[in-house]
Amino acid sequence: MSHPRFPQAVPPEDPNVPVWPRRRVLQTGLTLGSAAWLAGCASLIGQAKPQVVVVGGGWGGLGAVRALAAEQVAAVTLVEPNDRFMSCPMSGHYVAGVGSLDELLHGYQRVEALPGVQRVRARVQAIERDRREVVLDNGQRLRYDHLVLSPGVEYMEESLPGFAAAREALPVGFRAFEHQAVRAQVERFYAQGGTLVMSAPKPPYRCPPAPYERAMLIAEQIKKRGVRGKIVFLDANAAPTPAPTAQPILGALKAYADVIDYRPNVELQAVDAGRRTLQTSAGELRYDHANLVLPMRAQALVRQAGLGQRWAEVELPSFQAKADARIFVIGDAQGSPQPKSGQVAFGQGRAVGEEIARRLRGQSGPAPAGDIELPVGICWAATSHDEAINVNVVTTLSPGEAPKLRFTVDPQPSARSGAAAWSWARGVWRAMLG
Ligand SMILES: Cc1cc2nc3c(=O)[nH]c(=O)nc-3n(C[C@H](O)[C@H](O)[C@H](O)COP(=O)(O)OP(=O)(O)OC[C@H]3O[C@@H](n4cnc5c(N)ncnc54)[C@H](O)[C@@H]3O)c2cc1C
Repeated sequence: MSHPRFPQAVPPEDPNVPVWPRRRVLQTGLTLGSAAWLAGCASLIGQAKPQVVVVGGGWGGLGAVRALAAEQVAAVTLVEPNDRFMSCPMSGHYVAGVGSLDELLHGYQRVEALPGVQRVRARVQAIERDRREVVLDNGQRLRYDHLVLSPGVEYMEESLPGFAAAREALPVGFRAFEHQAVRAQVERFYAQGGTLVMSAPKPPYRCPPAPYERAMLIAEQIKKRGVRGKIVFLDANAAPTPAPTAQPILGALKAYADVIDYRPNVELQAVDAGRRTLQTSAGELRYDHANLVLPMRAQALVRQAGLGQRWAEVELPSFQAKADARIFVIGDAQGSPQPKSGQVAFGQGRAVGEEIARRLRGQSGPAPAGDIELPVGICWAATSHDEAINVNVVTTLSPGEAPKLRFTVDPQPSARSGAAAWSWARGVWRAMLG
């Protein structure tokens, strides 16, 4: 028997639009725990509200902010440097030249208007755990009772000698606000033709199906526009990852066999952007254009705070940092085996927001015995502008065992999943920012 201790995406009338069972959680809290809840509130009366600082207004951070705002037990400060949110999910269409950037951009106004929430437009430079403060790039310091970190990933540039010196010429486009540079590069490729080298690193990295998706969306345009060029796709893996997606993605790649030269088990070793050559485990390769996806790790901020080496180490199911009980790390920056996906990050954020509220009310107790389901993952690999493969992941935590991941993957692309991907994205964007 599985206990959905954490909010799950409940299929509504459209099974691809997540509905967050917030009302159910709140009602349960008030019914079952009203005495404790009232006592908790009483203990807060007359005191300044506890301070919760949330770092990163992306998928995970917004989940935490929304849950905390609904609970109203803390003053919440969201620290995010960008003036708007830009989605990585669904960006493949825009990057390939067939979608609009506006679809991916959303304002923070509604989040800023939530009760008890303020947004500081700044970047966190350091976390001083002993003082329980974060230091912002504008010199301001914010004190916290609880800190939620969801600053996403950075690229391991040192893994590819020659990359750092040519960073501007080789945009990766796996973080918000990098998509425009990749789109410009892809448009140059359409105009000039030649060889576009693309790559996928070994996992874990953000959204494993995304490099294949991007290649297929560009390949579709090569055919439609009659571009005199081809893609050489270098996969550091033996097949697309995670394993349950390999056959459907390899099957979809066959439709583009004339324009995508898919090469498994090839690792990047060095790049010379001046000579436009790549050293790889399969020898040297010349390119005209390149979109290389590098290995990733948690932002330096998280690692410099002593929360983990490559990824933050967290307790499950709480996502509390192993090194510090006041800090929670969610989304792609944490190192649990959960997939690095936006849907998972948003669910983790909501769960952590609710857990912090429980703790502030003095309600937190031992985790329920038996299996626990962690937030679900819903991912899409578009194989053309109209079709996609749907990937769902359920993570179960059994006492004393490593988390188990159960995948459900479309065996082949369909227009139904292609349309459902957009319904899903619009539904989550609304839940995050609407
Ligand atoms: C091409 C592509 C397709 C994808 N498709 C899907 C999909 O179909 N489904 C899915 O579920 N997921 C998908 N993903 C994955 C998804 O985008 C990530 O898993 C998700 O963004 C992770 O959320 P996060 O909160 O950890 O990080 P992010 O969403 O990246 O948010 C991090 C935020 O922190 C801010 N920040 C960073 N450093 C600091 C700092 N020092 N101080 C303050 N703020 C800071 C950033 O500005 C950013 O807004 C896709 C990703 C890519 C690249």
